[in-house]
Amino acid sequence: MKDTECLFCKIVDCEVPSEKVYEDATTYAFKDINPKAKVHVLVVPREHYRNVDELAKADAQLLAHMVEVAQTIADREYDGAYRLIFNTGEEAGQTVFHVHAHVLTGEPLDE
Ligand code: 5GP
Ligand code: ZN
Repeated sequence: MKDTECLFCKIVDCEVPSEKVYEDATTYAFKDINPKAKVHVLVVPREHYRNVDELAKADAQLLAHMVEVAQTIADREYDGAYRLIFNTGEEAGQTVFHVHAHVLTGEPLDE
């Protein structure tokens, strides 16, 4: 189900432009507009889920697939090394309520 007010639904539907990094039938990945590492990609399912907990409960296989996509991007960009972040809840820094994995890679990352 799509949420017509959701920024990342609009990005998946190309109503809002983005720099695509990867796509397949279920998943879309694009460059973060405000990168926190040399390579900072957001991986999102095409379907709308509010956060990673909602996705895990509804479709664990799709969540696992998002990790595979993150790995594919990191294999391409940085020998398979990457950091994966799911901000979950406003207090934890989630600002867009369409589940997204931050993939940080492309350079050595601070602890
Ligand atoms: P959150 O804070 O919800 O974990 O992550 C949201 C991310 O989306 C932020 O890192 C922010 O820079 C990114 N972002 C917000 N608006 C846009 C946009 O219009 N395009 C792209 N490519 N990234 C966006
Ligand atoms: Zn959405």
